[in-house]
Amino acid sequence: MSRVTECFGELTFSKAVMREKLSREVFEKLSDAIQAGNALDENIAADVAHAMKEWAISRGATHFSHWFQPQRGGTAEKHDAFLSYSEQGDLIERFSGKQLIQSEPDASSFPSGGIRSTFEARGYTAWDPTSPAFLLESGETRTLVIPSVFLSWTGDVLDRKTPFLRSMRALNDAVIKLQRLLGNRLARKVVVNVGPEQEYFVVARRLADTRPDLRICGRSLFGAPPAKGQQMEDHYFGAIHPKMMRFMEDLDHELYRRGIPAKTRHNEVSPNQFEIAPLYEEANLAIDHNLQMMDIMKKVGARHDLEVLLHEKPFAGVNGSGKHVNWSIGDNTGANYLEPSASPLKNINFLLTLGALMLGVDKFGGLLRAGVADAGNDHRLGANEAPPAIMSVFLGEYLSTLVDEIAGMGKVNEQSMNHITMGVRNLPRISKDTSDRNRTSPIAFTGNKFEFRAVGSSQNVSEAVTSLNLLLAYGLFIIEGRMAERGSIEDVKERAITVLKDVFKETRRVRFDGNGYSEEWHREAERRGLPNARNTPAALPAYLDKEVIELMEKSRTLSERELRAKVEIKLETYLKTKEIEYKTALDMARTLFLPALTRQIASTAAAAAAMKQAGLEGTLLRDEAARFEALFGDIKARTAELERVLNDAQAEKDCHRRAHFLADHGETALGALRAVVDTAERDVAAEFWPMAKYQELLTVL
Ligand code: ADP
Ligand code: MG
Repeated sequence: MSRVTECFGELTFSKAVMREKLSREVFEKLSDAIQAGNALDENIAADVAHAMKEWAISRGATHFSHWFQPQRGGTAEKHDAFLSYSEQGDLIERFSGKQLIQSEPDASSFPSGGIRSTFEARGYTAWDPTSPAFLLESGETRTLVIPSVFLSWTGDVLDRKTPFLRSMRALNDAVIKLQRLLGNRLARKVVVNVGPEQEYFVVARRLADTRPDLRICGRSLFGAPPAKGQQMEDHYFGAIHPKMMRFMEDLDHELYRRGIPAKTRHNEVSPNQFEIAPLYEEANLAIDHNLQMMDIMKKVGARHDLEVLLHEKPFAGVNGSGKHVNWSIGDNTGANYLEPSASPLKNINFLLTLGALMLGVDKFGGLLRAGVADAGNDHRLGANEAPPAIMSVFLGEYLSTLVDEIAGMGKVNEQSMNHITMGVRNLPRISKDTSDRNRTSPIAFTGNKFEFRAVGSSQNVSEAVTSLNLLLAYGLFIIEGRMAERGSIEDVKERAITVLKDVFKETRRVRFDGNGYSEEWHREAERRGLPNARNTPAALPAYLDKEVIELMEKSRTLSERELRAKVEIKLETYLKTKEIEYKTALDMARTLFLPALTRQIASTAAAAAAMKQAGLEGTLLRDEAARFEALFGDIKARTAELERVLNDAQAEKDCHRRAHFLADHGETALGALRAVVDTAERDVAAEFWPMAKYQELLTVL
């Protein structure tokens, strides 16, 4: 591999390229718009578009595409050639300012949650200049890609990027206001940094191809536990298999070319499970990059005959995959508010940020949970796998003691304040280690950032970041209000500590440093009144709590109408995912497992008959044939039961009730079918079993 710095960002219309290709005036105007997060000045759009087109064409691009994040998940693109008619009617290659700024895909088939009726189905996409344009490469084909937001013609949200950008604005306002109060004159713009750690599985392509469940659902619906799973704990951080190393190197290289700073690669807990983590970046870019990364992983995998599985739970009985979202907040001066410091005022700021987030988690834990709810993540959250569905904050022993001290503080004076800020300053870096050992906490403080671990491996992290932003903005708003009420206290630090005292007292219930998997915690959390939604249908209604609607509207992140549409889409996606899984399971049972058993029965019965013909008893074989027949009967009966549940569900017209019905009865019926199929898999002759088993899937590369 060539030096990283030689190829880094070669497929992006980066700042360096812009400086080279644009006139100084245009470059500066564009940089200002990017810096301030403003819309592009229409007067310079034509120049920018022209430069982009020339750059893209010189690198082999023929088309451009606005690239956006529909609510169905993933990303969307529609390519248009640069072709156009000149005024004389000749064919020319053209890319206008208008085409750069805005595009109107028909887009009527994207879920809108009822926001658009078909007669006004148009949506439009608009360039988000804070995320650089790049070249999408697929084989020999290159396309100029414009990262965009996606809105309906009436201006309603249809995507995941718009609410995120709005949450940034709300957070910005709240942060800057408080910073002014603290006497900070330099902070002008909030900066949220995000580093998502991406877990994934790989499976040899030829094995994956034998499994309709992996192909269609991205996860296995059947499969007996392998003899050797993750018991030996020898995969985690183990030596990387040479084949995997080649894939990882190829992947890193492709990411570097796209300006994605891949940093860490290692084996994860389960066999054939891995992780890749980039350096953190500004949230908007980190989100776009993670989406690109998921796409590139699949494409690079295909080159290596590997199927990359991003599903949260591809295999039962071994770990699932998550995406730990590292999140920190600071401002344009480079300050990280979650970084302990030598300056007492900065440490007050640290504590205020901490307190604000805890207020947010205390009030809106349900929203945080709902933002990571989907059919895939249901297999992790609340399923005794990291982390639980209860939203609590881990601070580590040292910081916890400090927070308790503040909460229980008597008189606030110079001395006690000094004591506390010194305490923050001495915050041991090992808090990172202790928290890393506590993998069971969904929101862990790790030294200078929070790590939100409830996000699913296949999810767009935008929702999680949006929720965290809004929770913090809410907390800052409350704190700011309370500080204003205590205006009589002259010293701003003293005022802050007096407010924090109450904040830490009030939010005690969301702090938990113990084992999040334990039964005791579930009971304790219930006593504390913390929400614990076990699955998606149970989690989603939190979006429609009066207070959440108010938060969304006040922060101008989503209108009630947009929020209701969002919930509808999530519910619909959940239902469709479940129905596809059940239909796939039924199909596999009928066309793969029952025929396999038929062959097994025929073979065993023939052996029994041969014994008899040879004058031998053959009772063992006869019994064995009968046992296989009984298994055949079990599979048939449970297939019929799953089908009945599916039909009953389809008769239920109310989406919420249908979702609950599937989450309960559908999962039970699929589980029952799986149990007998997995028994059959253990007993049926290897030559008759129609697909690759867990042991191969998890060990062969
Ligand atoms: P680990 O959690 O495995 O110990 P690190 O904590 O060093 O690893 O980093 C994990 C991820 O967190 C990386 O993507 C890293 O860039 C990101 N990260 C580190 N510092 C910050 C920060 N201040 N804000 C946001 N993300 C960060
Ligand atoms: Mg980490």
